[in-house]
Amino acid sequence: MTEFEVQGIPVTELARDYGTPLFVYDGDVLVDQYQGLRRRLHPKLEFFFSLKANPNVSICALLRAQGACAEVSSLAELVTARRAGVRPADIVFPGPGKSPGELAACLDEDVFAIICESLGELASIDQLARLRGKVARVALRINPAFTVKGSRLTMGGKPRQFGIDEAQLDELDDLATRFPGVQLMGVHVYMGTRILSEDVVAENTSRIIELAERVAARLNFPLEMVDIGGGLGVAYFDGERDIDPAVLADKLNPIIAEYAARRPETRLVMELGRYLTALAGTYVVRVRYVKTSMGQRFAITDGGTHHHMAAVGIGSFAKRNFPMRVLNRVGETPTESWNVAGPLCTPNDTLAKDIALPPVQPGDLLGVLRSGAYGPTASPVLFLSHGAPAEVLVQRGRSYLIRDRDTVDDLLRPQHLHDFSALTVPSQPTDPDDRRN
Ligand SMILES: *Cc1c(COP(=O)(O)O)cnc(C)c1O
Repeated sequence: MTEFEVQGIPVTELARDYGTPLFVYDGDVLVDQYQGLRRRLHPKLEFFFSLKANPNVSICALLRAQGACAEVSSLAELVTARRAGVRPADIVFPGPGKSPGELAACLDEDVFAIICESLGELASIDQLARLRGKVARVALRINPAFTVKGSRLTMGGKPRQFGIDEAQLDELDDLATRFPGVQLMGVHVYMGTRILSEDVVAENTSRIIELAERVAARLNFPLEMVDIGGGLGVAYFDGERDIDPAVLADKLNPIIAEYAARRPETRLVMELGRYLTALAGTYVVRVRYVKTSMGQRFAITDGGTHHHMAAVGIGSFAKRNFPMRVLNRVGETPTESWNVAGPLCTPNDTLAKDIALPPVQPGDLLGVLRSGAYGPTASPVLFLSHGAPAEVLVQRGRSYLIRDRDTVDDLLRPQHLHDFSALTVPSQPTDPDDRRN
């Protein structure tokens, strides 16, 4: 009977040392995902890690050490990327609702590009830059008129809160005179997430490059950056297959090479979140109880969808399961059908439904695989006041705690208890008309 290991460390040891529920990341897988693309894709294409997918500072530092730049969308993500060692010249900052504080931080840190999503934001950037006696480096996020089918969540070609419609660019004609504090220097387009087709990535890229050149020519600014977004997916469900970096290189590299030859001064940026981190992460939970209900088997675990909302599979017609294993007995044949539920008091707290597993017992460790992206940070970690799980990164055969598990005190500390006893309604009503019954 074998057990799941991360770089030679048995999962039972990790569960013993750090407790469950636990997120475990394999640093080798992070490096492999990054380098698998880096080795094959044209060197002109730069990889910006989207911290949204996994904002842990050590994950960012590990990817930084491989050469990744950063795409951030909040002040805390910006500070995280800086702490992880990413230079401001390697940071871009998109986001439809940036605060004045976030814009000020972009200006004070001199990030490579503020990615502007609306005309109103452009006016704010201009004002803040002029207050500082600076000229802001701004890329325009465009909501293109086209859409390319193939991403699971399309962002372009329809009414969206993101970016500026291609058709609205006319309103930007007198931009240089209206906004002297702004230097336009790039174009950004993000077409959507979970793209699993190499053809779609290639087609998106050539259309975005074409659009960027059109925008830069129309508004007459030097194209220092074209950010092609990204949205590369990983396979989670039956019938899906992973992107093949070699196939992607075959389709994408000629497009990059042609553009790089024509405009060697332009930085070409690809944003990668899910693709870099998803495969590296396993959500490890321990089975507390097993039971049956109306003929179906249930395993109740100590972790649930408050750490892994994506496992619920909301949005799809039928629930589709993330890959799951009994980690302490990986060799065993799955012979039984199980429902795996967490500790929350809602039927939605279902990590897997009707999934084939070997016989499960209390004490077993279950793992939701491919869970390194959009885990706790994209989940309701405060639901039922359970808080965030511990997170561990294994690198060179050693395990490192990269996030503490929330304690009860961590959850209660930000709350304020006020004494309302003096405001309590008197038990004797003062108005005799109220004395009913
Ligand atoms: C969410 C997001 C990303 C990352 O998307 P993935 O599909 O995880 O790679 C990149 N860029 C922008 C603008 C985003 O909103």
